[in-house]
Amino acid sequence: MKEIIVFIEHRFSEILSNSFDALGFAYKWQELSGSEISCLVLTSEEKKGIFNNLKDAVNKIYLIKNKLLEDYHPELYLKVIKDFLKEKENYLLVFGQTSNAYELAPSLAVELSIPVVTDINGIEKTNDEINFIRYFYGGKVCGKIEINEFDKKPLILTIQSGSFKFERKEINSEIIEKEISLDIEKNIDILEYIKEEAEEVDITKADIVIGIGRGLRDKKNLPMVEELAKKLNGVLAGSRPAIDAGWLSKDRQVGSSGKTVKPKLYLALGISGAFQHIVGMKNSDLIIAINKDPNAPIFSVSHYGIVEDLTKIVPALLKKL
Ligand SMILES: Cc1cc2nc3c(=O)[nH]c(=O)nc-3n(C[C@H](O)[C@H](O)[C@H](O)COP(=O)(O)OP(=O)(O)OC[C@H]3O[C@@H](n4cnc5c(N)ncnc54)[C@H](O)[C@@H]3O)c2cc1C
Repeated sequence: MKEIIVFIEHRFSEILSNSFDALGFAYKWQELSGSEISCLVLTSEEKKGIFNNLKDAVNKIYLIKNKLLEDYHPELYLKVIKDFLKEKENYLLVFGQTSNAYELAPSLAVELSIPVVTDINGIEKTNDEINFIRYFYGGKVCGKIEINEFDKKPLILTIQSGSFKFERKEINSEIIEKEISLDIEKNIDILEYIKEEAEEVDITKADIVIGIGRGLRDKKNLPMVEELAKKLNGVLAGSRPAIDAGWLSKDRQVGSSGKTVKPKLYLALGISGAFQHIVGMKNSDLIIAINKDPNAPIFSVSHYGIVEDLTKIVPALLKKL
Protein backbone atom coordinates (compact mmCIF):
# COMPACT_ATOMS: atom_id res chain seq x y z
CA MET A 1 0.00 0.00 0.00
CA LYS A 2 1.32 3.44 -0.94
CA GLU A 3 1.98 5.79 1.96
CA ILE A 4 0.65 9.25 1.20
CA ILE A 5 2.96 11.99 2.42
CA VAL A 6 1.74 15.58 2.35
CA PHE A 7 4.48 18.18 2.26
CA ILE A 8 3.51 21.02 4.59
CA GLU A 9 4.57 24.50 3.52
CA HIS A 10 4.73 27.35 5.97
CA ARG A 11 5.60 31.01 5.95
CA PHE A 12 5.86 33.48 8.82
CA SER A 13 4.94 30.68 11.23
CA GLU A 14 1.74 29.77 9.44
CA ILE A 15 0.84 26.77 7.35
CA LEU A 16 -0.11 27.85 3.80
CA SER A 17 -3.71 27.22 2.78
CA ASN A 18 -2.43 25.25 -0.24
CA SER A 19 -1.12 22.61 2.16
CA PHE A 20 -4.64 22.22 3.52
CA ASP A 21 -5.84 21.68 -0.08
CA ALA A 22 -3.24 18.90 -0.31
CA LEU A 23 -4.53 17.47 2.99
CA GLY A 24 -8.09 17.58 1.59
CA PHE A 25 -6.81 15.52 -1.33
CA ALA A 26 -5.10 13.12 1.10
CA TYR A 27 -8.39 12.51 2.95
CA LYS A 28 -10.05 11.72 -0.38
CA TRP A 29 -7.18 9.40 -1.21
CA GLN A 30 -7.58 7.69 2.15
CA GLU A 31 -11.29 7.09 1.46
CA LEU A 32 -10.48 5.48 -1.88
CA SER A 33 -7.41 3.48 -0.94
CA GLY A 34 -7.51 3.05 2.84
CA SER A 35 -3.90 4.19 3.15
CA GLU A 36 -2.51 6.16 6.09
CA ILE A 37 -1.72 9.87 5.82
CA SER A 38 1.61 11.34 6.82
CA CYS A 39 2.79 14.91 6.83
CA LEU A 40 6.34 16.04 6.25
CA VAL A 41 7.39 19.24 7.97
CA LEU A 42 10.78 20.89 7.65
CA THR A 43 11.42 23.46 10.34
CA SER A 44 13.51 24.40 13.38
CA GLU A 45 13.12 23.36 17.01
CA GLU A 46 11.98 26.92 17.87
CA LYS A 47 9.22 26.98 15.23
CA LYS A 48 7.92 23.44 15.46
CA GLY A 49 4.94 24.51 17.58
CA ILE A 50 3.16 26.00 14.58
CA PHE A 51 2.34 22.49 13.46
CA ASN A 52 0.21 21.74 16.46
CA ASN A 53 -2.97 22.11 14.46
CA LEU A 54 -1.98 19.14 12.32
CA LYS A 55 -1.82 17.00 15.42
CA ASP A 56 -4.55 14.38 15.53
CA ALA A 57 -5.64 15.20 11.97
CA VAL A 58 -3.23 12.78 10.26
CA ASN A 59 -1.65 9.42 11.12
CA LYS A 60 1.98 10.50 11.21
CA ILE A 61 3.89 13.77 11.36
CA TYR A 62 7.52 13.70 10.36
CA LEU A 63 9.28 16.74 11.81
CA ILE A 64 12.74 17.27 10.37
CA LYS A 65 14.55 20.00 12.22
CA ASN A 66 17.48 22.29 11.64
CA LYS A 67 17.76 26.02 12.18
CA LEU A 68 18.42 26.43 8.42
CA LEU A 69 15.06 24.81 7.59
CA GLU A 70 13.02 27.45 9.38
CA ASP A 71 12.25 29.17 6.06
CA TYR A 72 12.04 27.74 2.56
CA HIS A 73 15.35 27.37 0.80
CA PRO A 74 15.27 25.57 -2.57
CA GLU A 75 18.59 23.74 -2.32
CA LEU A 76 18.33 22.76 1.34
CA TYR A 77 14.72 21.66 1.09
CA LEU A 78 15.43 19.63 -2.05
CA LYS A 79 18.33 17.82 -0.39
CA VAL A 80 16.48 17.10 2.86
CA ILE A 81 13.31 15.83 1.17
CA LYS A 82 15.37 13.71 -1.18
CA ASP A 83 17.25 12.10 1.72
CA PHE A 84 14.00 11.55 3.58
CA LEU A 85 12.42 9.82 0.57
CA LYS A 86 15.42 7.59 0.02
CA GLU A 87 14.39 5.66 3.12
CA LYS A 88 10.90 5.08 1.70
CA GLU A 89 9.97 2.50 -0.88
CA ASN A 90 6.55 3.28 -2.24
CA TYR A 91 4.84 6.57 -1.60
CA LEU A 92 2.71 9.34 -3.00
CA LEU A 93 4.29 12.70 -2.19
CA VAL A 94 1.77 15.52 -2.43
CA PHE A 95 2.29 19.27 -2.59
CA GLY A 96 -0.24 22.08 -2.55
CA GLN A 97 0.15 24.21 -5.66
CA THR A 98 2.60 27.00 -4.86
CA SER A 99 5.58 28.49 -6.65
CA ASN A 100 7.83 26.59 -4.24
CA ALA A 101 6.05 23.34 -5.11
CA TYR A 102 6.52 24.10 -8.79
CA GLU A 103 10.22 24.27 -8.03
CA LEU A 104 10.49 21.30 -5.70
CA ALA A 105 8.15 18.72 -7.24
CA PRO A 106 9.75 18.43 -10.70
CA SER A 107 13.29 18.77 -9.26
CA LEU A 108 12.63 15.85 -6.91
CA ALA A 109 11.07 13.83 -9.72
CA VAL A 110 14.19 14.29 -11.82
CA GLU A 111 16.59 13.56 -8.96
CA LEU A 112 14.68 10.42 -7.94
CA SER A 113 13.70 9.35 -11.48
CA ILE A 114 10.02 9.09 -10.63
CA PRO A 115 6.95 10.60 -12.32
CA VAL A 116 5.32 13.88 -11.34
CA VAL A 117 1.81 15.05 -12.23
CA THR A 118 0.95 18.70 -11.60
CA ASP A 119 -2.30 20.66 -11.18
CA ILE A 120 -4.51 17.77 -10.04
CA ASN A 121 -8.09 18.86 -9.42
CA GLY A 122 -9.87 15.52 -9.12
CA ILE A 123 -9.45 11.85 -8.41
CA GLU A 124 -11.66 8.88 -9.23
CA LYS A 125 -11.65 5.17 -8.70
CA THR A 126 -13.05 2.80 -11.30
CA ASN A 127 -12.82 -0.90 -10.54
CA ASP A 128 -9.36 -1.18 -9.04
CA GLU A 129 -7.83 1.73 -10.86
CA ILE A 130 -7.28 5.21 -9.54
CA ASN A 131 -7.18 8.03 -12.06
CA PHE A 132 -6.10 11.61 -11.50
CA ILE A 133 -7.92 14.44 -13.20
CA ARG A 134 -6.49 17.71 -14.45
CA TYR A 135 -7.16 20.31 -17.11
CA PHE A 136 -5.16 20.78 -20.29
CA TYR A 137 -4.99 23.59 -22.84
CA GLY A 138 -5.99 26.33 -20.43
CA GLY A 139 -9.05 24.44 -19.20
CA LYS A 140 -10.54 23.55 -22.58
CA VAL A 141 -9.89 19.85 -22.07
CA CYS A 142 -10.30 17.84 -18.90
CA GLY A 143 -8.14 14.72 -18.87
CA LYS A 144 -7.83 11.58 -16.78
CA ILE A 145 -4.35 10.40 -16.03
CA GLU A 146 -3.53 6.79 -15.50
CA ILE A 147 -0.05 5.92 -14.22
CA ASN A 148 1.50 2.72 -15.53
CA GLU A 149 2.36 0.26 -12.76
CA PHE A 150 0.99 2.80 -10.34
CA ASP A 151 1.00 0.40 -7.38
CA LYS A 152 4.65 -0.41 -7.77
CA LYS A 153 6.38 2.94 -7.89
CA PRO A 154 6.49 6.26 -6.08
CA LEU A 155 4.77 9.29 -7.53
CA ILE A 156 4.72 13.04 -6.90
CA LEU A 157 1.60 15.19 -7.29
CA THR A 158 0.79 18.87 -6.97
CA ILE A 159 -2.80 19.80 -6.11
CA GLN A 160 -4.65 22.69 -7.74
CA SER A 161 -5.62 25.20 -5.07
CA GLY A 162 -9.26 25.10 -3.99
CA SER A 163 -9.91 21.71 -5.59
CA PHE A 164 -10.27 19.70 -2.39
CA LYS A 165 -12.01 20.84 0.74
CA PHE A 166 -10.20 20.20 4.01
CA GLU A 167 -12.60 19.08 6.69
CA ARG A 168 -10.56 18.03 9.66
CA LYS A 169 -10.87 14.41 10.79
CA GLU A 170 -9.84 13.16 14.19
CA ILE A 171 -6.99 10.67 13.78
CA ASN A 172 -4.41 9.89 16.48
CA SER A 173 -1.07 11.20 15.29
CA GLU A 174 2.30 9.65 15.82
CA ILE A 175 5.01 12.33 15.82
CA ILE A 176 8.46 11.43 14.58
CA GLU A 177 11.01 14.17 15.26
CA LYS A 178 14.53 14.25 13.94
CA GLU A 179 17.19 16.93 14.32
CA ILE A 180 19.57 16.73 11.38
CA SER A 181 22.89 18.30 10.50
CA LEU A 182 23.12 20.16 7.21
CA ASP A 183 26.37 20.60 5.48
CA ILE A 184 25.86 21.45 1.85
CA GLU A 185 27.29 24.10 -0.37
CA LYS A 186 24.61 26.62 -1.28
CA ASN A 187 24.48 28.61 -4.49
CA ILE A 188 21.51 30.66 -3.36
CA ASP A 189 21.29 32.87 -0.30
CA ILE A 190 17.84 34.01 0.78
CA LEU A 191 18.35 37.46 2.24
CA GLU A 192 14.91 37.99 3.72
CA TYR A 193 11.27 37.05 3.32
CA ILE A 194 9.17 40.21 3.18
CA LYS A 195 5.61 40.17 4.44
CA GLU A 196 2.93 41.53 2.12
CA GLU A 197 1.42 44.76 3.34
CA ALA A 198 -1.70 44.32 5.43
CA GLU A 199 -4.82 44.06 3.28
CA GLU A 200 -7.73 46.44 3.45
CA VAL A 201 -10.16 43.50 3.54
CA ASP A 202 -9.63 39.78 3.62
CA ILE A 203 -11.97 38.31 0.98
CA THR A 204 -11.36 34.78 2.31
CA LYS A 205 -13.07 35.66 5.60
CA ALA A 206 -16.19 37.33 4.16
CA ASP A 207 -19.61 35.63 4.30
CA ILE A 208 -20.79 37.40 1.16
CA VAL A 209 -18.50 37.94 -1.80
CA ILE A 210 -19.53 39.83 -4.93
CA GLY A 211 -17.23 38.77 -7.74
CA ILE A 212 -16.97 41.07 -10.73
CA GLY A 213 -15.56 40.13 -14.12
CA ARG A 214 -14.79 41.66 -17.48
CA GLY A 215 -18.55 41.80 -18.07
CA LEU A 216 -18.64 44.86 -15.83
CA ARG A 217 -17.10 46.52 -18.88
CA ASP A 218 -16.20 49.92 -17.47
CA LYS A 219 -14.88 51.53 -14.31
CA LYS A 220 -17.90 53.78 -14.37
CA ASN A 221 -20.00 50.73 -13.37
CA LEU A 222 -17.97 50.20 -10.21
CA PRO A 223 -20.02 52.48 -7.87
CA MET A 224 -23.10 50.40 -8.67
CA VAL A 225 -21.45 47.14 -7.53
CA GLU A 226 -19.78 48.85 -4.59
CA GLU A 227 -23.20 49.95 -3.42
CA LEU A 228 -24.51 46.42 -3.87
CA ALA A 229 -21.65 45.04 -1.77
CA LYS A 230 -22.40 47.62 0.91
CA LYS A 231 -26.12 46.87 0.97
CA LEU A 232 -25.50 43.12 1.17
CA ASN A 233 -22.83 43.53 3.82
CA GLY A 234 -20.39 41.83 1.51
CA VAL A 235 -17.03 42.50 -0.09
CA LEU A 236 -16.02 42.98 -3.70
CA ALA A 237 -13.67 40.52 -5.35
CA GLY A 238 -12.86 39.89 -8.99
CA SER A 239 -11.66 37.71 -11.81
CA ARG A 240 -8.21 38.34 -13.19
CA PRO A 241 -9.34 40.75 -15.94
CA ALA A 242 -11.09 42.85 -13.28
CA ILE A 243 -7.82 43.07 -11.37
CA ASP A 244 -5.73 43.66 -14.49
CA ALA A 245 -8.07 46.49 -15.48
CA GLY A 246 -7.24 48.12 -12.14
CA TRP A 247 -10.85 48.02 -10.89
CA LEU A 248 -9.76 46.16 -7.75
CA SER A 249 -6.46 45.51 -5.98
CA LYS A 250 -4.57 42.24 -6.52
CA ASP A 251 -5.45 40.89 -3.05
CA ARG A 252 -9.09 40.71 -4.24
CA GLN A 253 -8.42 38.27 -7.09
CA VAL A 254 -10.27 34.96 -6.88
CA GLY A 255 -8.83 31.93 -8.60
CA SER A 256 -5.83 29.74 -9.17
CA SER A 257 -3.38 32.63 -9.09
CA GLY A 258 -5.43 34.57 -6.57
CA LYS A 259 -7.35 33.50 -3.49
CA THR A 260 -9.75 30.70 -2.68
CA VAL A 261 -13.00 31.85 -1.12
CA LYS A 262 -15.75 29.77 0.47
CA PRO A 263 -18.40 32.33 1.47
CA LYS A 264 -22.05 31.67 2.27
CA LEU A 265 -22.92 33.56 -0.92
CA TYR A 266 -20.82 34.17 -4.03
CA LEU A 267 -22.48 36.48 -6.50
CA ALA A 268 -20.71 36.30 -9.87
CA LEU A 269 -21.34 39.36 -12.03
CA GLY A 270 -20.15 39.22 -15.64
CA ILE A 271 -17.73 36.36 -15.01
CA SER A 272 -17.52 33.68 -17.70
CA GLY A 273 -16.34 30.86 -15.41
CA ALA A 274 -12.90 29.91 -16.68
CA PHE A 275 -11.55 27.02 -14.59
CA GLN A 276 -8.81 29.26 -13.17
CA HIS A 277 -11.60 31.32 -11.63
CA ILE A 278 -13.90 28.45 -10.68
CA VAL A 279 -11.27 26.64 -8.59
CA GLY A 280 -11.21 29.71 -6.36
CA MET A 281 -14.94 29.90 -5.60
CA LYS A 282 -16.69 26.63 -6.46
CA ASN A 283 -16.91 25.51 -2.83
CA SER A 284 -19.00 28.52 -1.83
CA ASP A 285 -22.25 27.52 -0.08
CA LEU A 286 -24.47 29.34 -2.57
CA ILE A 287 -23.44 30.60 -5.99
CA ILE A 288 -25.58 32.99 -8.01
CA ALA A 289 -24.38 34.10 -11.43
CA ILE A 290 -25.53 36.95 -13.62
CA ASN A 291 -24.31 36.68 -17.18
CA LYS A 292 -25.90 37.62 -20.46
CA ASP A 293 -24.54 34.52 -22.19
CA PRO A 294 -26.74 31.47 -21.39
CA ASN A 295 -23.84 29.18 -22.32
CA ALA A 296 -21.33 30.78 -19.96
CA PRO A 297 -19.55 27.98 -18.01
CA ILE A 298 -20.17 29.83 -14.73
CA PHE A 299 -23.75 28.51 -14.85
CA SER A 300 -22.47 24.93 -14.56
CA VAL A 301 -21.27 25.62 -10.99
CA SER A 302 -24.08 28.03 -10.02
CA HIS A 303 -27.08 27.16 -7.90
CA TYR A 304 -29.06 30.01 -9.45
CA GLY A 305 -28.45 31.89 -12.64
CA ILE A 306 -29.83 35.01 -14.26
CA VAL A 307 -29.28 35.35 -18.01
CA GLU A 308 -29.38 39.09 -18.42
CA ASP A 309 -27.33 42.24 -18.69
CA LEU A 310 -25.89 42.96 -15.25
CA THR A 311 -26.35 46.70 -15.74
CA LYS A 312 -30.09 46.01 -15.70
CA ILE A 313 -30.16 43.47 -12.85
CA VAL A 314 -27.86 45.24 -10.37
CA PRO A 315 -29.89 48.52 -10.33
CA ALA A 316 -33.08 46.45 -9.97
CA LEU A 317 -31.54 44.58 -7.05
CA LEU A 318 -30.43 47.84 -5.44
CA LYS A 319 -33.93 49.17 -5.73
CA LYS A 320 -35.33 46.07 -4.04
CA LEU A 321 -32.74 46.13 -1.28
C1 LIG B 1 -1.89 30.74 -15.52
C2 LIG B 1 -3.22 31.44 -15.45
C3 LIG B 1 -3.71 31.80 -14.23
C4 LIG B 1 -4.95 32.46 -14.16
N1 LIG B 1 -5.44 32.78 -12.92
C5 LIG B 1 -6.66 33.33 -12.84
C6 LIG B 1 -7.22 33.62 -11.56
O1 LIG B 1 -6.63 33.42 -10.51
N2 LIG B 1 -8.49 34.15 -11.54
C7 LIG B 1 -9.21 34.40 -12.67
O2 LIG B 1 -10.36 34.88 -12.57
N3 LIG B 1 -8.68 34.16 -13.88
C8 LIG B 1 -7.42 33.64 -13.98
N4 LIG B 1 -6.90 33.42 -15.22
C9 LIG B 1 -7.63 33.93 -16.40
C10 LIG B 1 -8.74 33.02 -16.84
O3 LIG B 1 -8.26 32.05 -17.74
C11 LIG B 1 -9.86 33.81 -17.56
O4 LIG B 1 -9.29 34.51 -18.64
C12 LIG B 1 -10.57 34.81 -16.67
O5 LIG B 1 -11.02 34.17 -15.49
C13 LIG B 1 -11.77 35.40 -17.41
O6 LIG B 1 -12.30 36.43 -16.62
P1 LIG B 1 -13.78 36.96 -16.84
O7 LIG B 1 -14.72 35.84 -16.64
O8 LIG B 1 -13.93 38.17 -16.00
O9 LIG B 1 -13.74 37.47 -18.34
P2 LIG B 1 -14.36 36.85 -19.65
O10 LIG B 1 -13.94 35.44 -19.82
O11 LIG B 1 -14.05 37.80 -20.75
O12 LIG B 1 -15.92 36.83 -19.38
C14 LIG B 1 -16.73 37.96 -19.27
C15 LIG B 1 -18.16 37.47 -19.14
O13 LIG B 1 -19.01 38.55 -18.92
C16 LIG B 1 -20.21 38.35 -19.64
N5 LIG B 1 -20.78 39.68 -19.89
C17 LIG B 1 -20.33 40.63 -20.72
N6 LIG B 1 -21.07 41.74 -20.62
C18 LIG B 1 -22.03 41.47 -19.71
C19 LIG B 1 -23.11 42.22 -19.16
N7 LIG B 1 -23.32 43.48 -19.52
N8 LIG B 1 -23.90 41.60 -18.25
C20 LIG B 1 -23.70 40.34 -17.86
N9 LIG B 1 -22.70 39.59 -18.35
C21 LIG B 1 -21.85 40.16 -19.25
C22 LIG B 1 -19.81 37.61 -20.90
O14 LIG B 1 -20.89 36.88 -21.41
C23 LIG B 1 -18.69 36.73 -20.38
O15 LIG B 1 -19.17 35.45 -19.99
C24 LIG B 1 -5.68 32.76 -15.33
C25 LIG B 1 -5.16 32.38 -16.56
C26 LIG B 1 -3.96 31.75 -16.64
C27 LIG B 1 -3.43 31.34 -17.98
